[in-house]
Amino acid sequence: MNGTEADRAGSLLQNAVEDTLSERRLFGIAACAGVAIGPVFRTTEAPAQVTRHKIHAADVQAEGARLDSAILQSRKQLMKLRSRLAVLPEESQGEIAPLLDAYLQMLGPSRLIRGVRKRIQERLVSAETAVMEEANAIAHTLAAMATPDGPGSQRQADEVREVGRRLVRNLTRAPFRSFAGAVQGAVLIAESLRPADAALIDPARIAGVATEEGGTDGHTAILLRALGIPSVLGAAGLMADVRAGSTAIIDGVIGTVILNPSITSLSNARRAVASFARDRQRLGRLRRLASVTLDGEIVSLQANLELPIELPMIAQSGASGIGLLRSEFLFMNRDTVPTEDEQAKTYQNVIETMAGDTVTIRVLDWGGEKEIEALVTAGVVPELVDDNPALGLRGIRLLLRQPDLFETQLAAILRAAHAGPVRVLLPMVTNVAEIRAARAIYNRVADRLRQRGVTLPKILPPLGIMVETPGAALCADALAVEAEFFAIGTNDLCMYTLAVDRGEVEVAELYDSLHPAVLRLIQMTIQGAASHHIPVSVCGEMAANPDMTPLLLGLGLRSFSTNASAVPRVKQAVRGTTIDDCQRLTWQILKQSDSAQTRELIATFRH
Ligand code: PEP
Ligand code: MG
Repeated sequence: MNGTEADRAGSLLQNAVEDTLSERRLFGIAACAGVAIGPVFRTTEAPAQVTRHKIHAADVQAEGARLDSAILQSRKQLMKLRSRLAVLPEESQGEIAPLLDAYLQMLGPSRLIRGVRKRIQERLVSAETAVMEEANAIAHTLAAMATPDGPGSQRQADEVREVGRRLVRNLTRAPFRSFAGAVQGAVLIAESLRPADAALIDPARIAGVATEEGGTDGHTAILLRALGIPSVLGAAGLMADVRAGSTAIIDGVIGTVILNPSITSLSNARRAVASFARDRQRLGRLRRLASVTLDGEIVSLQANLELPIELPMIAQSGASGIGLLRSEFLFMNRDTVPTEDEQAKTYQNVIETMAGDTVTIRVLDWGGEKEIEALVTAGVVPELVDDNPALGLRGIRLLLRQPDLFETQLAAILRAAHAGPVRVLLPMVTNVAEIRAARAIYNRVADRLRQRGVTLPKILPPLGIMVETPGAALCADALAVEAEFFAIGTNDLCMYTLAVDRGEVEVAELYDSLHPAVLRLIQMTIQGAASHHIPVSVCGEMAANPDMTPLLLGLGLRSFSTNASAVPRVKQAVRGTTIDDCQRLTWQILKQSDSAQTRELIATFRH
């Protein structure tokens, strides 16, 4: 058979296949952008069965020993996984390592393990029963606390369940999921994928991932994004329709899975794959280019930092500083509140790494979903949060009630300030009195440090505020008299303005940062800042979406802080537009009463 005959035979075969298997298109959540085409590798995992099993008092010790060996085995497995990280891209390591560390920490002298031992002893149940019950109880409490600032507690709940499942599998000797049979370039299809499974995926071998369950903000999605694997999660009906070995297309941009694709779909997908590869190269080159609009306006692009491990990614991203250091990380996963010395060392390390670029340190933003055990142990926060934590003792409110905690952190920041430019950011401010009170404490801490012989600059690092409540935005002109800079937190601003919990799936479609009310409040904040000539930046998720960049520029913003991986895309948007065009777009948008029209205007502007 010559080449032409072979081609014709191939297309006849393809047509025959198309006749018998028609294309199926399933919709899910776009978890990681990119398009993948490949043979389906279907993977399932039978759940580890645990039936409640009572033991005799005489067996408590033996059950304890079984638990110890399961802990040891689980730790070994996780350490092995951790050693595999070295082969992954640096960005992926930054995402996965802290997760594995969190698992490992939970397998140490943690609340989970303490609780399991107690259950074996006091309730006389088998080790697997105790693990399952304790993990579920802790996860349930954490999930119940999941509120305003996103899915933090839901994630922690998932982590506890995950560690529990691993222990149970090792206790019951149930087999783990394996990807060993996947061929090069395969598309992995599963009912659900745990974060630890995702960490096992080799991005050089697996082209794409689709699952029936899972959401966009879970750890699995974060890990898939870190690995750069085109992924769609939550595609209902996937497992019923898919056949191992058949071809599938995963479109992680629009969130579709195409099974048995037609020739047209295949050629479209191939074009998309090629265009993605070109795009990635172009974005890589952008790192070194200036962040400037076509008409010469310089726009500052900074990065948000949540874990010190992200620092190398920030350096790689081309960000010109840290616009939001969420200092909560310093207080998490530990038994005691960090001392002034410890905090000072951490801040100094970050400031030194940023080598002259400004670091904006937000003081502790303790809120409902951010469970910090050390604060509970120290009696700083109550063990049980209020019924409505988003409206309770959050952010600056807690710090003003707990001056020791606040003063220690301020002292640590001031001591680190000699290492480079720093700004101090107050979370959840709603009135001028809070800024005045915070400033009085700030000055007092500085005086005390000077008395201790610490050299501080005459003018202290700027003290600014998050504008993340409608109250703060509406009074921005008054707050600008007291604050030295504003950082707009669009995540909370959107939640409080629209009365929609940012972590709540049921009302997710109402969480709309393009709602006219949110845009007007952003506009008022910018005007308030301008009336007193103080800098204003935006550091919520809205800033990370390049589609929003022209609108935010048109509103007058010139400083953005986003997750490190969004910096090149936002820079691309900045470099592709003029301020005049952005302003024209924004004027039109501000006249709209419906965000659907705004979305259309943005889409038209983009093309
Ligand atoms: C915000 O609310 O937009 C913000 C940046 O703060 P966080 O997400 O930490 O609440
Ligand atoms: Mg916030």
